[in-house]
Amino acid sequence: MGMIKQNAAGLNGNSSIIDMMPDLYSASLSTYTASSQKPPVVPVGNTSMSRSKLLTNLEVNSPQRITSWVDSMKASSPTHVKSPHSLTEDSNSSWMQLRHPSALDMFEQIIHASQGKQIVMFLDYDGTLSPIVDNPDKAFMSNKMRTTVKKLARCFPTAIVSGRCRDKVYSFVRLGELYYAGSHGMDIKGPAKGSKHKKHDQTVLFQPASEFLPMIDEVYKELVEKTKSTPGAKVENNKFCVSVHFRCVDENEWTELAQQVRSVIKEYPKLRLTQGRKVLEIRPTIKWDKGKALEFLLESLGFTNCTNVFPVYIGDDRTDEDAFKILRDRGQGFGILVSKFPKDTNASYSLQEPEEVMNFLQRLVNWKQLNL
Ligand SMILES: [Mg+2]
Repeated sequence: MGMIKQNAAGLNGNSSIIDMMPDLYSASLSTYTASSQKPPVVPVGNTSMSRSKLLTNLEVNSPQRITSWVDSMKASSPTHVKSPHSLTEDSNSSWMQLRHPSALDMFEQIIHASQGKQIVMFLDYDGTLSPIVDNPDKAFMSNKMRTTVKKLARCFPTAIVSGRCRDKVYSFVRLGELYYAGSHGMDIKGPAKGSKHKKHDQTVLFQPASEFLPMIDEVYKELVEKTKSTPGAKVENNKFCVSVHFRCVDENEWTELAQQVRSVIKEYPKLRLTQGRKVLEIRPTIKWDKGKALEFLLESLGFTNCTNVFPVYIGDDRTDEDAFKILRDRGQGFGILVSKFPKDTNASYSLQEPEEVMNFLQRLVNWKQLNL
């Protein structure tokens, strides 16, 4: 548990308000990046907000922001054909070829860079291992993908890092040999059974936001009540965060739904709102994200201050940028963004869709098996 305490000391009671900024994905990245450069120093449990922070929070949650949230969500939704990110084919291919080339095309270079180092795999779930579907309860991964991930975990330590509740992700993936970081990394558990990658028998279990559980539960119930008048709206309780899914809601209703969400969370200054692909997410105002989860898992695996580790993080959403950024800052391994459209990203490479992710993982397995 020593390691866990050490990590908890790095939590910050002040959330990054930047997360709630309505900017487009691309425009907000530089600001977001700048905000996370200093290591957090406020210990866990200190979740009180200063008056100015509270004001900023209310301001950011003002009605004027609703339209921007909705616009931003539309922009980051991959199936939205008129998205500002679906640029012309020319700029699309130059983004792919020059700035974030396909991880499949660059496979040899990637393997070369990893030589002599331990590859550790981090995989987002929705949109990375499974396609984005209308009903989030049916975001199943294919059996072929499951088999590939299972083989991958035999070759390298492998973790699933998701915004969803850990139990929910596990119910989709159903592989006991993986690490799972649910609720954006706020709920972390190690392999259920003995894994050859583990140095200790102890299962990693880390829940930096457990004090928020009753509040999250309350907000969940209020959101269900408030949004039931909007056809297609779905509220999901992810234990340490709540998601309001817009996937099945008519786009003309998005503003109304976002206002309903705002009317609930404005009463909770200790919760913050972030926006993703057709989803608004409500989470505790602690500085904990997928990037922190990645660092925590690397430490848990015994790679603290190691130079011989090569982490690879694959994800498709804005929340994955925290992890891409960590890898870029550490100069270790790299991120792969799953996207068909150009986006500003801290990832080094790209893959277009889960099918390509599977092919990439399979190539890693094949390479490892040839080089045992
Ligand atoms: Mg995702």
